[in-house]
Formats: sequence, structure tokens, C-alpha cells
Amino acid sequence: MIIRLVIALVIFYLAYRVGKYILRLPSENSRSFSGPRSEITGEDLVRDPQCGTYVPVNSAVKATIGGETFYFCSEECRDRYREVVEKRK
Ligand SMILES: [Zn+2]
Repeated sequence: MIIRLVIALVIFYLAYRVGKYILRLPSENSRSFSGPRSEITGEDLVRDPQCGTYVPVNSAVKATIGGETFYFCSEECRDRYREVVEKRK
């Protein structure tokens, strides 16, 4: 009877260790992995799809065309690009 109890305790201990090991893995992975930079900050350069110029986000002209967000160097580029996209449909 006591041997059974010891075996049960050993199994429980091993399960605990394995569980702890498994639980520890994702947190360590996320620590070394800084995460995707999906957000664009003010200093980032964005490409004007109309003329190909790179402009900082905070001085770019932002526009949502066809559900996608684009950044342009000027309102002229934005209007021209919007025309091109809307003609394509
Ligand atoms: Zn432009």
C-alpha cells in the first residue's frame, strides 16, 4: 500500500515538474521575442505608393483607400492614388 502511495507521489511530482516546464516555455519565448511591430510610430518612414518617396509618418498624409491605410507625401499624391485605385475597380 505504501509503495502505491510513493509511486502516486512520484507520478504526481513528475507531472508537476513537466507541467511547470511546459508552462515556463511560452513565457521565456515571449521574453526573448520582442513581438511584432505592427504599430507605426511617428518617426517611422512610410512609402508613398504613388511616387515612391519615403516620408515620416507624422508628416505624411494618411488615407484609407479600399479598406487599406496608405501614407502619402502630399494630398496631390493621395488624390492621384485614390483615382488610380478607384479606376482599377
Ligand atoms: Zn508622393
